Amino acid sequence: MTDYNVIVIGAGPAGYVAAIRCAQLGMTTACIDHRLNAEQKPVLGGTCLNVGCIPSKTLLDSSHHYYFMQKQAAAHGIKCDGLSIDIAAMHARKFKVIKILTHGIASLFKKNKVTHIPGNARLSGDKQIEITAHDGSTQILSADNIIIATGSSPVQMPVAPLNENIVDSTGALAFDTVPPRLGIIGAGAIGLELGSVWSRLGSKVTLLEALPDFLVHADRHIARVVQGELKKQGLKIHLNAQVTATSVHSQEVTVTYTDKKGEHTLLVDKLIVAVGRQPNTTDLEVPLNTQGFISVDTHCQTDIPGIYAIGDVIGGPMLAHKGSEEGVMVAEHIAGHKTHAVSYEMMPYIVYITPEIAWVGKTEAQLKSAGIAYTVGQFPFAACGRARASGDISGMVRIMADTQSDRILGVHICGLSASELIAEAVLAITLKSTIEDLVKTIHAHPTLSEATHEAALAVKGRMIHG
Ligand code: FAD
Ligand code: NAD
Repeated sequence: MTDYNVIVIGAGPAGYVAAIRCAQLGMTTACIDHRLNAEQKPVLGGTCLNVGCIPSKTLLDSSHHYYFMQKQAAAHGIKCDGLSIDIAAMHARKFKVIKILTHGIASLFKKNKVTHIPGNARLSGDKQIEITAHDGSTQILSADNIIIATGSSPVQMPVAPLNENIVDSTGALAFDTVPPRLGIIGAGAIGLELGSVWSRLGSKVTLLEALPDFLVHADRHIARVVQGELKKQGLKIHLNAQVTATSVHSQEVTVTYTDKKGEHTLLVDKLIVAVGRQPNTTDLEVPLNTQGFISVDTHCQTDIPGIYAIGDVIGGPMLAHKGSEEGVMVAEHIAGHKTHAVSYEMMPYIVYITPEIAWVGKTEAQLKSAGIAYTVGQFPFAACGRARASGDISGMVRIMADTQSDRILGVHICGLSASELIAEAVLAITLKSTIEDLVKTIHAHPTLSEATHEAALAVKGRMIHG
């Protein structure tokens, strides 16, 4: 007789969602997590709610308001003298948002009868888990099924060891003053989002990116537009940059890097290392793949029957919504439902900068290399009434469709509210819609979504406003 039907290790968006779904399906469920909050109290929500998605978006919103008041409000006739930013108050608001949301998960656990067990979990064979509580006491629990959702941690760079001035994303979410000069290694999602936060608040930001192309996974047209917009905002982005050394003297960081032109030195007050994340697999005796992620099949089951793994710890897109989808799928699989593998090709990707970038489906480069004949339609927000009214006209919607079947293959948006507009495209691609379906869909006026409609019309050469 086991203690639980299911034990989930990790209470991030993969683990807590899996636990709730398991409990909803009638299984006795416990969820173990060793995370403590700023008050040293056990907390649910994982990286995402505590030091990831939510705090970063909270700061992006705060810094956006400040930037708007400083640079854009006057154009709306709004005058604001003596504008200032209170960083402590901004962080206090961030912590309040985190607290509400993490307490919300605790309430959901209560409502669904998921047992939260604070502490560190170690797989100890035969579906047993040894749990070390924060006071050092231990217990062993058994389960019919175990779901590993231990997430990931920032990749560290030997040439840039962390200290008071060189920080990872968690440190960069907590600067207590605006660093006058901010360096960032890595121009990926974290580098761009946190770089935008501190740039809007006044930092001179320089990003050092190793790859020769900016935002390598995004649509090339959109990447170019975004790169130009970031430049206008004052962010410097150096591509092909290899950091070879860092040193700190009197609170100043010296970063040495090389690019095609030779060796350079960058002097900054703070340096953020944002070069990706690595899986948390300590204490888990399960087979790993060559990149160090837990190996799973299409139902997220490891080589050991009854032991599953989901979320960042299995690799693929390291996104909260990807982990949550896997969590639901695994819970339903364990409950004996007929489940389908998660549709990774329908995963939306978003970078929450200005302009926002969002996409789903294939890029032109992928279509070209697959030899698929496609037609592109594009519509700029500059020609969209709602975008004009808001005063934010940068960016566009680009849609790629199969030339023969008319099926929508990829939608790429940069601009105001791209993160929300993409939902229509995700639904369209999930339902295997054609461009004609999108054309026939009535879009309200004046809305930003009219740009998506016009881009669909453009695929057919029937654009009205362009
Ligand atoms: P996690 O959220 O990492 O949760 C795993 C949990 O398991 C953690 O609480 C950890 O402490 C716990 N744990 C680990 N090992 C053990 C153990 N042995 N015993 C007990 N507990 C353990 N994604 C998005 O989709 N959108 C965004 O906007 C976004 N923004 C981000 C911004 C930042 C700054 C960062 C760092 C990440 C962001 N991400 C975003 C990525 C997102 O946070 C992750 O993809 C997501 O949190 C992964 O969920 P998970 O449940 O797999 O793991
Ligand atoms: P990332 O993979 O998005 O970007 C890392 C960047 O660093 C890449 O462009 C890479 O080429 C570059 N890089 C790697 N090694 C380097 C080196 N030695 N020198 C210079 N550049 C180097 O990773 P991230 O930005 O650290 O984010 C981690 C994870 O969190 C990602 O998987 C991301 O999906 C997720 N995340 C998502 C969001 C979002 O969905 N909006 C936001 C933040 C983070």
